[in-house]
Order: sequence, then C-alpha cells, then structure tokens
Amino acid sequence: MRGGVGRLLALGALLLSADPVEAAAPALSGESAMKWVRRQCAFGPRVPGTPAHARCLSAFRSHLDSLGVAYRAHPFKVISPADGRELACTNLIISIRPEARPRLLLGSHWDSRPWADQDPNPQARAKAVLGANDGASSTALLLTLARVLRDNPPPIGVDLVLFDAEDLGRDDKPEEFCLGSQRLASEWVGRLPDWVLVLDMIGAPGAQFGRELYSQRYFPDLSDLIFDLAARRGFAEFNPAVGYAITDDHLPWLRRGVPSALIIGWGDPNWHTLKDTPDRLSSTTLERVGTVVLDLIYGGELAAP
Ligand SMILES: [Zn+2]
Repeated sequence: MRGGVGRLLALGALLLSADPVEAAAPALSGESAMKWVRRQCAFGPRVPGTPAHARCLSAFRSHLDSLGVAYRAHPFKVISPADGRELACTNLIISIRPEARPRLLLGSHWDSRPWADQDPNPQARAKAVLGANDGASSTALLLTLARVLRDNPPPIGVDLVLFDAEDLGRDDKPEEFCLGSQRLASEWVGRLPDWVLVLDMIGAPGAQFGRELYSQRYFPDLSDLIFDLAARRGFAEFNPAVGYAITDDHLPWLRRGVPSALIIGWGDPNWHTLKDTPDRLSSTTLERVGTVVLDLIYGGELAAP
C-alpha cells in the first residue's frame, strides 16, 4: 500500500515536470480582461485631447493606485496630424520588480483612432473608432497582468507600458503613428529593456497571430519562442505560416537594437471601422494570448543577454 502510494506520487511528479511551463506560470482570466475592455470603451473613443481620453487615464491611475504597483507617467506633447493642434499625451509605465534584471517590456497602445477611415460607409469615416480590439483589448490584458504579476512575483523584471498616441497618423504617413513609443524609446533613461513584446488587436474571435516580418528579420528568436510556447499549449490562433510587416509600437525599440516582437491579430474586418466594439470580442482569445505571455515570463526560456 505504501509502495503503491509512493509510485503514484512519483508518477504525479513526473507528469507535472513533463511540462515545466504549465507548472510554473500562474493563470489569467479572459473574462477579467473583457471587463477592462468594456470599461475603457464605456468612456467612448480615447482620442488624445478629448475628455474621454483624460477620464480613461484617471481610471488607469486610480486602478494602479488601488493595486499598489509602482508606476510612473511619461507626459509628452504632439502636434495632431489631423488639424495641427497641440495635444497632451501620456505613456504609463508600470514596473513589476523594478530592481530586477533582465527586464521584459510588454507594451500596448491605449489611445483610439480619431477616424474610422476603413469604414465601408463614407459618412462614418470622419467619426472616431471605439477601438475595442484596436487599443482596448491589449491594454485590458496588461491591466489584468498587473494584478497577476503583483500576486506572483516573476523570475524577471517586467515593465507594462501603456503607450499613448499610437493611432493618430494619416494612412499614408507611417511616421505619424506610434508617437508615444517613439518618444519613450528615445527618452528612455538608464538601461534599455532586454526584450520588448508589443500586443495589439488581440481580442477578435478567430484571430490569427502570424509572424511580424520586421521583428522576424532582425530578432527571430523572440518570435520563434512565442510560437513555440503557443504550439505547446495547442493554441491554433498562433500561426507561424502567416507573415506581415506592421508599423506598430515595437519598431522604435527595434531601431534601438532591442530584441522585439509584435503579437497582432492582423486582418480583423472591423479594424478602423465603427464596428470595433466590445461585443465583437472573445474572452477566450484574450485569455490565450495572456497565457502565452505568462508562459514567456515564467517559463525560464528567455535567454538572459
Ligand atoms: Zn489602429
């Protein structure tokens, strides 16, 4: 009897150790992330210079204060490409284990686009998008991760960064996008992050997360690891056979030589239209992306530089 129990315990230990990632990483709730998607969208489009933008920033600050995590604001001004107005913008940097090295920067833009310029209805194109998938989904995941990381101190340092002013650009002017990440990367004080992973448009049901080709060209190892972790989970949303080159908040870090990657559900038919609303998102997709990110943080497979 005793021997039998011993064998069972040994077998249990063997099964647990067969997948060290699953054993090590804490879990995350896609439903909790969905609450933050709805909460952001309830303010309306979070376009820089609007009351909704200011109110949403206040809600982030109150939430982070209540969580008791360390964070700082990085304020900056931009000239609106649309009308030349000066706009006050703010990146928020939430630091988990601020003294720890190496460090992973996880980023998401929190602003939403001033124009629905991809909307099939021409009359809708002058209106701002709600940005449930484009902005709110990844921001919601980062806010959810803040609590998980606070409660389960990770083996590496993590900076969760909410970038402002990602989506102000005119369609044919890539340099007008990603203004918050450009400013933060150029004004970063001290040692740069060791890796950057940007998340964007991660909540659509049936999303396909392919290879982002700028990251792939310069730092394929980080993308390879993410696809490997997703494959171990059996998450078919991550499809390394698909590829696209995207201008997003990872590019300013790539330009500074930081190994960077982007997880983006490119091809969402509601992108930059008035249909980018919370009811069209999936908590399962959000949870799966969050699970892969947690496996990356806790799995011990990021090789220290
Ligand atoms: Zn966008």
